[in-house]
This record gives sequence, structure tokens and C-alpha cells, in this order.
Amino acid sequence: MSVFISGATGFIAQHIVAQLLENDFKVIGSVRSQEKADKLLKQFNNNENLTLEIVKDISLPNAFHEVFAKYKGKIKYVLHTSSPFFFDSDDYEKDLLIPALNGTENILNAILDHAADTVERVVITSSEAAMIDITRYFDPTFFYDENSWNPTSHEEALINGVHAYTASKKFAEKYAWDFIEEHKNQIKFALTTVNPCNVFGPQQFDENVTSPMNTSCEIINKLVHSSVDTKVDRTTMGKFIDVRDVAKAHLLALQNDNLIGERLLLISSGFDEQSILDIINDDFPALKGKIRVGNPGTGALQNWKGSIHDNSKTRKLLRFEFLPLKKSVDDTVSQILRHEEKL
Ligand code: NDP
Repeated sequence: MSVFISGATGFIAQHIVAQLLENDFKVIGSVRSQEKADKLLKQFNNNENLTLEIVKDISLPNAFHEVFAKYKGKIKYVLHTSSPFFFDSDDYEKDLLIPALNGTENILNAILDHAADTVERVVITSSEAAMIDITRYFDPTFFYDENSWNPTSHEEALINGVHAYTASKKFAEKYAWDFIEEHKNQIKFALTTVNPCNVFGPQQFDENVTSPMNTSCEIINKLVHSSVDTKVDRTTMGKFIDVRDVAKAHLLALQNDNLIGERLLLISSGFDEQSILDIINDDFPALKGKIRVGNPGTGALQNWKGSIHDNSKTRKLLRFEFLPLKKSVDDTVSQILRHEEKL
């Protein structure tokens, strides 16, 4: 029996695929083109347990039906990770809201139509974004936990790219929980959602270091390439989790019964540009005197002043310690410098 993972080329998904293969799962991944499939297969050394299929656009009607029909009787686990993650767009509806919702709708209906009798577990990569009120994220009186829901309406989602992305994750996740309830007599799978905050950490493969990098890692990449007089951006701040922990949570969610029906809020700590700069300046002599220093010791890591969260339930359920910001930043920066032959 196999695991199906959508969006296998993604930053997070590649780590999940690596951990699945390390644990001897047979993996079927979807990617958007043959070129991307060829590259990814080569990166995973043509591992015989990895098969890739083309799903060009998760937004299109019945996007996953053909793949699920092809592997009828063979898929036991489904991981849905693919969803657009960026903020710049001229058309929030088309670029963010529709693919997120349709992608979730399409994959769940493909299971219902072609694999209802074999799929036992579905894990959806949702987001902290589905849990927070984005207008109050920096408000110390705003509290959220695993039970919280982003209150954004469809109309409010169209205000800007950040509202649209965060709402896209809420609408997609909500659809999934409603689907489970509506079809409970026709399916046998249980659902878990993984809700990470900003995900940092190295790419699965050094050659995936690009400029710009994927949306979350670009926060660190931008600082590695800053100059001494670049201003510290006081608005770039939030909470962080390492990509290896995110992948691990997906694997546990597939297998552990205690995670059935849960929304796992993955947060290790707060961060901002100052706390990342402190780590880079302390740990990378090659960058000393070349990048911004700011005011060491005054960052969010020591001094988070925004929203309060409680993810103690998730930590207790997962039973592993999340990697700290220092480890995540160090490994991300080492990989960038190694790739650029600056170490
Ligand atoms: P990436 O941009 O690296 O990965 C996104 C994946 O989705 C890629 O495989 C991409 O394909 C695929 N995809 C996007 N749109 C479509 C589409 N219309 N049709 C088919 N495939 C599509 O992002 P991440 O790995 O960072 O994100 C993965 C998931 O994690 C997303 O659901 C995101 O919302 C969620 N998440 C990410 C966080 C983060 O900080 N990174 C935080 C919280 C949640 P391609 O490679 O071809 O572009």
C-alpha cells in the first residue's frame, strides 16, 4: 500500500517525501510537469519506492481523478500539501483562493470516487493562517490555540495578498472538516491537519537554493544578502517552526491514532529580523561586517510583543521537541553559503 502526496516538488513536501522513503513507504507524488518529475526523481536517486504523476493544476475540475483511478486499490494514506503560497498577485481569487479550495475539494472527491474503501488516513497541510485573525496578529491581547479559526470573510480576503493567502488556508481547511462530516458514511478515512507557522530550515537538496527562495525561507535568504546599511524591517516578524519538524509531524499524523481528528499547531518560537541577524552575525564569520547588525539582543526571540498562542496540546500529542530558531537559521544559512561557495 502506498502514500499519495500532492505537490511533491514543494519545500515542505520534499522533506516529507525524504522521511517517507527513509521509513520504507511506497510514495506516489504529484508534480506539475514531466520536467519537474524528472528533476525530482533524479534528486531522489531514482528511488524505486518513488513514483511521480503529473497533475498540472489542482484548480481544474477533477484534477486528481485520473491518478486516483489509476492507483485504485493501492493508496492507503493521502497527504495534501499543494497549495499556492505567495502574496503578490493581481488576481487573489484566481491565484490563491480558487486553487487552495478547489485543490482540497478535488483531492477529497477523488478519494471518495476512487479510493473510499482503501484510504484510511488523510493529512492536509493547512496553516497557522487558518487559525489566526490576521488583523490582530501583533496584538498582545489576541490569543489562539488549536480550536481557533481565522474569522476572515470572503470579501475581507480580497483586501490584499496576505489576507487572501491566510483566508485561502482557512476556506480550504474548513471545507475538509465539513467534507468529513458530510460523507462520514461513505468514507473510512480519518483526517488530521498540520497547521505550521512560518517554516524555515534547509532545502532538501542544496541545488534547490534559488534567489528568491520559497516564501518563508526568503526571509532568511534576504538577510544573508543584505548589506550593512540595509534597514532592519520591524514588520517582518512572526512565529517559526523548522521544516524537518513539519515533515515529522506529517508522518506521525499518518500513523498515530492519537492524532486522528486533531489540528496540529506547529510553533517553536517567535522570530523577527533582529533575532535572525543576531544568530547569523554570531555564527557566520564569513558574513561579519558585510550584513546589517542592528541592535543585538532586542529581537522578538527575547522579546515577542505580539499575539499569544498556546500549542501545548499539539506538543503533548506529538511527543517530540521542536528545533530552536538558532538551529534552523544556522542550517539554512550554511546551506545558502555552501551553495554559493562562500563558506
Ligand atoms: P512551496 O511553494 O514550496 O510548495 C507549494 C507546492 O504546491 C508546490 O509543489 C507547487 O508546485 C504546488 N502548487 C501550488 N499551486 C499549484 C497548482 N495550482 N497546481 C498544482 N500544484 C500547485 O510551498 P511550501 O512547501 O512552503 O508550502 C507547502 C504547503 O504548506 C502549502 O499548503 C502552504 O500553504 C503550507 N504552509 C507553508 C508554510 C511555510 O512557511 N512554508 C507555513 C504554513 C503552511 P510547483 O513546485 O510546481 O510550483
